Amino acid sequence: MAQQRNMRPESMVIHGGEAPADPHGALVAPLYQTSTFVFPNAETGGQRFAGDADGYIYSRLGNPTVNLLEQRIAALEGMQAGAATATGMGAVAAATMAFLRAGDHVIASDCIYGCSFALFSHLFERFGVQVSFVDMADEAALAAAFQANTRVVFVETPANPHLRIIDLAMVGALCQQQPDVRLIVDNTFMTPLLQQPGNFGADIVVHSATKYLNGHGDVVAGLITGTREDIQLIKMTTLKDMGATISPHDAWLITRGLKTLAIRMEKHCATAAIVADFLKAQPAVEKVYYPGFKDHPGHHLIGTQMRNAGAIIAFELRSGYQAGVAFLNGLEMIKIAVSLGDAESLIQHPASMTHSPLTPEAREKAGISDGLIRLSVGLEHVDDIIHDLSQSFAKAQQI
Ligand SMILES: *Cc1c(COP(=O)(O)O)cnc(C)c1O
Repeated sequence: MAQQRNMRPESMVIHGGEAPADPHGALVAPLYQTSTFVFPNAETGGQRFAGDADGYIYSRLGNPTVNLLEQRIAALEGMQAGAATATGMGAVAAATMAFLRAGDHVIASDCIYGCSFALFSHLFERFGVQVSFVDMADEAALAAAFQANTRVVFVETPANPHLRIIDLAMVGALCQQQPDVRLIVDNTFMTPLLQQPGNFGADIVVHSATKYLNGHGDVVAGLITGTREDIQLIKMTTLKDMGATISPHDAWLITRGLKTLAIRMEKHCATAAIVADFLKAQPAVEKVYYPGFKDHPGHHLIGTQMRNAGAIIAFELRSGYQAGVAFLNGLEMIKIAVSLGDAESLIQHPASMTHSPLTPEAREKAGISDGLIRLSVGLEHVDDIIHDLSQSFAKAQQI
């Protein structure tokens, strides 16, 4: 693996990690679609269970196809080890809960993925874990939130739907002053190609692999990376015993999808920059949220923390929900759907879709207006994306 450490990310997405040996020399690592593994004899079975012999036991505990994906994401994040999960939420839950027990305290960014928020605010409370949601743009507020029993700090950056950016170096430095605190970062919007939270003090990085990492809209999955010790703990406790294990087939598809991650991210980002400029120039658009704009809070972290602004854009229509509905319904190529990071451009209305579980007051506080639209810029030709947006703006204006 020493050689791989020098590989560029563009090559690592294709070659990172050690593929299982194949007697036929298959170019593509085979798919081990199997629930269990046959022991050569009873003694070996016992030794594998005792941890005294290498070798697979049962696919909930480990599988060669899954293992290759885990090694590849670890290499890409610059972390020691990886674990693959059935969904992104499986990754968030397994990674956080491995370090928590009743009586512990969690600090989470007040701007995180809806189901992460639900897990922390509803489920954790039931098990006696206390959570403080903090505006992490405010260093003093974060510093003041630490308690003697704080064990996990959870951050997502950039975050839905306004692409809020958190300074990871600042958060990392504060966490390092605390004994026994794990900084866990959700890196879904960036991927390791654009941001490696481990460089800024993150102990654990989680992903919804459903999004850019797989990139083809045909899998739900998650990934976790961290130190060998932490990943081993997660695999042997929250992952093994709660069972959000990935299917080997899904792992195989993600390993395939990953091969084009570098060129996909480059294209997604280049197209998004043009689309953001186009949206900004539309009379029907009140405001565009895109980290590539100089007036976006957090823009200064592009070039240091982030290699690019990414390809998610949010924008505010001047005339509220009805105009938003008409605009979405008028689109011909761009699909109305949640999720992001696929080849297809996807558009959604946070107030009625991803953020509908929030009360109207909570939405207002979070700045999610009825006119807010989120666009995941896909891989179609930029002219076709702009043409579709343009014709739908024209139609919506006639209503
Ligand atoms: C989608 C998403 C998740 C959850 O992932 P699933 O694969 O849907 O379970 C978590 N965090 C972020 C930032 C996401 O976009």
